[in-house]
Amino acid sequence: MIKLLIVGAGISGLALARRLNNTNVKVTLIERDTQFSPAQAGICLPTNAAIQMKRLGLYDRLRKAGQQIDHIYYQKANGAPLTSASLLEPPFNKAECLSLPRQALLDLLRYNMAKNVCFGSQVTKMSNSEAGVFVHINHTAKPEFFDLVVAADGINSTTRQLAFKNTKPRNIGITTWRFIVEHELRDAQPIHFLGDDHSFVIAPLSSTQSYCYAQIADPIHQWRKLPPASTLQTLFSHYAAPVQAMLAAITPSTRFVVDSLESIHTSSSFELRTVLVGDALHGCPPHLLQGVALGLEDVNLLADLITRFPVDDALEMYNEERLPRAHWVIQESIRQTEISIKSKAWPGRFIRNTLLRQNGPSEIAAWRKLLKEAAPNPEDTQ
Ligand SMILES: Cc1cc2nc3c(=O)[nH]c(=O)nc-3n(C[C@H](O)[C@H](O)[C@H](O)COP(=O)(O)OP(=O)(O)OC[C@H]3O[C@@H](n4cnc5c(N)ncnc54)[C@H](O)[C@@H]3O)c2cc1C
Repeated sequence: MIKLLIVGAGISGLALARRLNNTNVKVTLIERDTQFSPAQAGICLPTNAAIQMKRLGLYDRLRKAGQQIDHIYYQKANGAPLTSASLLEPPFNKAECLSLPRQALLDLLRYNMAKNVCFGSQVTKMSNSEAGVFVHINHTAKPEFFDLVVAADGINSTTRQLAFKNTKPRNIGITTWRFIVEHELRDAQPIHFLGDDHSFVIAPLSSTQSYCYAQIADPIHQWRKLPPASTLQTLFSHYAAPVQAMLAAITPSTRFVVDSLESIHTSSSFELRTVLVGDALHGCPPHLLQGVALGLEDVNLLADLITRFPVDDALEMYNEERLPRAHWVIQESIRQTEISIKSKAWPGRFIRNTLLRQNGPSEIAAWRKLLKEAAPNPEDTQ
């Protein structure tokens, strides 16, 4: 029986705990918050995320909760078309690409799990060694021993910072706003409107609800500090009619999630007996929409390995498979961010628009590569 501590009951931590249910691994799952917190805004899940949800047995419920994305459109801020792509052809027909409220995704992962979570718990000190980890948790008197600690506590992971050296996130210089509005839209598909160093994405969640994502280059956080609704009205006032319709649908009860984008870099996915999953391993700008997909790939693989191999072998195999993929997604996401920052000046915009017209949406090429290089899904070979 392996004693495992998962730190963080977010998307990755909950998914790992679900996968390890009824196995030879005894899981303790701790969460800093005192209860499951409500989640705001929406989330888009490409095909590789949906494939991983199949492995958790949650794909059918995910499809019911989400809106299928079968095309993606890119337009200039004024609505002039730039490029588009279909997600109905191979390899994207392996599972649906979906958009849904973030709360709906969390509801699926949280279902029946509250009893397994030690809420209001944090690691205060860790003694990491080749044999295991002694962990001090805030409300316990004595340290507890675990064979393995899994850091699933997000991009600002305290666990990572306790076990690894120099892994603080780096600010990327972009502010983002996310929110959901009620607005009638029939048969709509996601549209990315690209301006200078700012952009606005509309992703329908249903025929009456849309998820909006807006961003601007903001190295000194001047936009981040301002009230979201009026700032968005000012920044995007010259954008095309669909964006104006979303801005007009903002009400006093609209909840905004405002973030400064960050990324992390680690040279290994584990240190002795502490291993990283999810954003703790590959937190980065969300341009490729790979956060959930990579996190679920991490935990499905880790669960397969630690239930079949000795812990040390499992960690080596995990690192070999996950690290190159995580690094590629981080680098590519940062590259996309740099392109959007450089689009403030017209040569940058010209290059961005030319690349889009020639190659199509950059996330489509990335998803194709990631699907091609993904480890085979055991269910597909049965
Ligand atoms: C602006 C933006 C838009 C995004 N859009 C998308 C998208 O459309 N699609 C997509 O796939 N991804 C998207 N992402 C990325 C996605 O949100 C993350 O990849 C995902 O939430 C990571 O899940 P996680 O469980 O690894 O970490 P988190 O979701 O951060 O969960 C960490 C959990 O650990 C808990 N915790 C934190 N610290 C501690 C501690 N010290 N002790 C105990 N518990 C702790 C937290 O309370 C939380 O419950 C986006 C990210 C951003 C910033």
